[in-house]
Amino acid sequence: MDVLAGAGRGTAATSDVPVATEGLGLHQALIELHARHLGNRRGAVADYIPQLATVDPDPFGLAIATATGKLHTVGDAEVPFTIQSVSKAYTYCIAIEMIGREAMLQRVGVEPSGDAFNAIVFHPRTNRPFNPMVNAGAIAIAAILYEQAGDAAFELVLDRLSQAAGRRLGFDEAVYRSELETGHRNRAIGHLLRNCGAIDGPVDAILDIYFRQCSIQVTATDLAWMGATLAHVGEHPVTGRQVFGLAAVRDTLAVMFTCGMYDYSGSWAFDVGIPAKSGVGGGIVGVVNRQLGIGCFSPRLDAQGNSVRGIAAFEDLASDFGLHAFECTNQGSLFVTTVL
Ligand code: GLU
Repeated sequence: MDVLAGAGRGTAATSDVPVATEGLGLHQALIELHARHLGNRRGAVADYIPQLATVDPDPFGLAIATATGKLHTVGDAEVPFTIQSVSKAYTYCIAIEMIGREAMLQRVGVEPSGDAFNAIVFHPRTNRPFNPMVNAGAIAIAAILYEQAGDAAFELVLDRLSQAAGRRLGFDEAVYRSELETGHRNRAIGHLLRNCGAIDGPVDAILDIYFRQCSIQVTATDLAWMGATLAHVGEHPVTGRQVFGLAAVRDTLAVMFTCGMYDYSGSWAFDVGIPAKSGVGGGIVGVVNRQLGIGCFSPRLDAQGNSVRGIAAFEDLASDFGLHAFECTNQGSLFVTTVL
C-alpha cells in the first residue's frame, strides 16, 4: 500500500494521507534547517562502487514521520537512491526474529568495532564479527537469512523493508551489478567468515543477498517511515501492520545506537543521541523512540562514509528539538502528540 504523496524538489510538503494539520512549527523549522545546509558541498560521493560514482551529488532531502502517522518533508525527499548499509539494521531485525537473541549472540556480537565498515577484522576472542552494522556482521546476517529462507531470502528482505516503508520498494539493478562485479573485498570477508566457521553455506549465494539488499531503492521519505515503524515498536504508523516484533526492535535500536554510524558512532551517540544507521548511498535513518522516524538523503560523504549534510541536519534537529535520548527536556511520546 502506498501511503505517501510526492514532495517536489526544493519544496516542502506534507503527506496527503494522513492529513497533517498540525506541526507547522516543525515544518517551518525543517524548511529553515534545509536552507541552512543546502549550500554545504563538502565531501564526495562514494566511488569505490563504480555505479555510485555516477550519482548526482547535489540532492538534499529530509523527511520526518511521526509515530502518530504524520509526515513532513523538505527538499529532495522523493529522490530515489540505494539504501546500502541502512539495510543492515533491518536485516538484523529480521534475522534476530528468525533465530532468537541467544543464537544471534553466538553468531554476531554487539560491540562497536571502532574500525571502518569494511575492515577485515573479527573479535579476537570469539572470531565473530563485532556487530551487525559492519560488513562482516551484515554478511553473517545474510548467511542466517540464507539458512532460514534459502533462495527466497532476498524477496523476504525486500518484502519486510517494503512493509516498514509502507510501499513496495524498488531495486537498482545497475548498482547491484556494479557491486557484484567489483565487491572483491566483501567477497574476501565472506570467504574468511566461512574459513573461520562464522558462516556455513555457499558464499556466493550469501553475498548475492547482501549485494541485493544494499541495492534496494529508497527515498528520504521511505527512510522516515521505516524509522517511524521502529519508533512505533515495529508497527507501521499508517498501515497499522506489525512489521517487526517488540524484542527485535529493542535489540536493533540498541545496536543502531552504539554501532550505526561507522567509526563515528561514539561521537554520534554523544552529540546526536539518536539510534541511526547510515549508508554510503548518502542515506541516514534515525529513530527517536516512540516518537519519530527521520530520513535524510545527501550523497556527499565524509571520511567515515557518513553523509556530510546528513550529519549536520541531524545535529541541528537533535539540538533544536531536544531529541537526544538522554535530553531531559524531551518528553518522549508526549512530544509528538503535543508539539508535532
Ligand atoms: N554495499 C556497500 C558495501 O558493502 C555498503 C557499504 C555501506 O553502505 O556502508 O561496500
